[in-house]
Amino acid sequence: MSEYQMIINGQKVGSDATFPVINPATEEVAARCPKATEAHLEQAVAAARAAFPAWSARPGAERGAIIHQIGQAIEEHQAELVSLLTLEQGKPGTGFAGMGAAFEIGGTLAWCHAAADLELPVDVIQDNEEARIEVHRKPLGVVGSITPWNFPLMIAIWHVMPALRSGNTVVLKPSEYTPLTTLRFAEIINDLLPPGVFNVVTGDGSLGAAMTNHPDINKIVFTGSTATGKKIMQNASCNLKRLTLELGGNDAAIVLPDVDVAAIAPKVFATAMFNNGQTCAALKRLYVHEDIYEEMCDALVALANSVTTADGSTDPDFGPVQNKAQFAKVCAMADEARASGARFLTGGEPMPGPGYFYPVTIVADIADDTRLVREEPFGPILPVMKFSDVEDALRRANDSPSGLGGSVWSGDPQKAAALASRLECGTAWVNTHAMIQPDAPFGGSKESGIGVEFGRYGLEEYTNIQTVYISKT
Ligand code: NDP
Repeated sequence: MSEYQMIINGQKVGSDATFPVINPATEEVAARCPKATEAHLEQAVAAARAAFPAWSARPGAERGAIIHQIGQAIEEHQAELVSLLTLEQGKPGTGFAGMGAAFEIGGTLAWCHAAADLELPVDVIQDNEEARIEVHRKPLGVVGSITPWNFPLMIAIWHVMPALRSGNTVVLKPSEYTPLTTLRFAEIINDLLPPGVFNVVTGDGSLGAAMTNHPDINKIVFTGSTATGKKIMQNASCNLKRLTLELGGNDAAIVLPDVDVAAIAPKVFATAMFNNGQTCAALKRLYVHEDIYEEMCDALVALANSVTTADGSTDPDFGPVQNKAQFAKVCAMADEARASGARFLTGGEPMPGPGYFYPVTIVADIADDTRLVREEPFGPILPVMKFSDVEDALRRANDSPSGLGGSVWSGDPQKAAALASRLECGTAWVNTHAMIQPDAPFGGSKESGIGVEFGRYGLEEYTNIQTVYISKT
């Protein structure tokens, strides 16, 4: 069995203690990873701190050029990284609509190269006979990145590349469920970066909290649950850490009666089931007008019945749910919905093990106060609710502590855009959902997060403003 090592100060580092990484398709131990001690974290933070002055002093274009090289290195190791993602995360290589592990690597490359090309120009806000006033963007120092298990490599790139591009150094902790791709990635790119600029520590249990409490980490970027995001925010007060928190979503979609159901159903289905439903901005609550409700349900059922769920290594449409706790959550939410009288149109029972397999499940006639509607299941299960009045649909869509994304579907995009702008969320889509790209800011409102990622807006979150006032009198 493979033994993986952390990267601290440019060196491969093991630990006396290790933890198992489980293949979710077989429930067998796929590999063992080092369990970092407090001393390891101290070494990683100290290395990142020591590397900061030289790294931040380099011209931005030089850092950008290295990030392009990192992208090239990922591309050269693409096949290996796809296999590792399937092994630890469960997702198939190609998968439904080509949105499996290879798609994640494609996104990884796109975001990596886009981050390399970002700029932080000086903003001159006054230049007259009295004074010249410039606004500069300065890196923060050491960034702590805590990444999740749904897109282990792509989200690591989302965190790390803007941090490095803007001159920070990084200590990253991947999810204990999916550390392998990240560790291999760190090993692949290790020679491209000066020692200490990018460190990866692995562990389970207390490492994340130790990072957020660490006085020498200046910012935490975290993608994960709202509950953990709140704890991070509390801890971050110790030294006023900057925060970017991309937390849970329970995105609503409102489907108006003027849509062509046959045309939109595949897109609705794909954006709900993307990554087996384990996507922060997946479509998770579908509100459909009563005139087309049964037609939409039938179309979704036909799609659900046409897909396969199996071990990702056989390249089905969908793999297993990533971990046991998440699988139990999906099962429990489905059971509660059934007990409440909801109508299960497909799926609804776990598949025979081993492996955390749950079939694509469409649930109709479900009450808004059911947990499956109130909370994100983060799995392959979609509740479909009926509405007759569009204002009522909007009220129900907004009746959530989450506010990551939302969408309106209509044959009249202008009308849909006007309605979508009234959704309380960070991204409002029209006739699509969960569409993101490297130059468009992405973040949540309400309890879905703080700050944004991507593009210039995201890059600025890794900086402090320094105003330079040059008197001319
Ligand atoms: P969590 O959101 O709880 O995050 C787990 C990660 O956070 C681990 O790396 C853990 O490391 C770290 N962590 C835990 N406690 C703290 C703390 N106090 N301070 C800092 N870091 C901490 O993920 P789960 O896997 O438990 O998933 C729970 C739910 O989150 C899912 O059901 C899903 O709804 C949502 N989710 C959302 C994602 C998204 O993309 N927005 C991605 C994945 C999950 P350690 O244990 O070492 O401290």
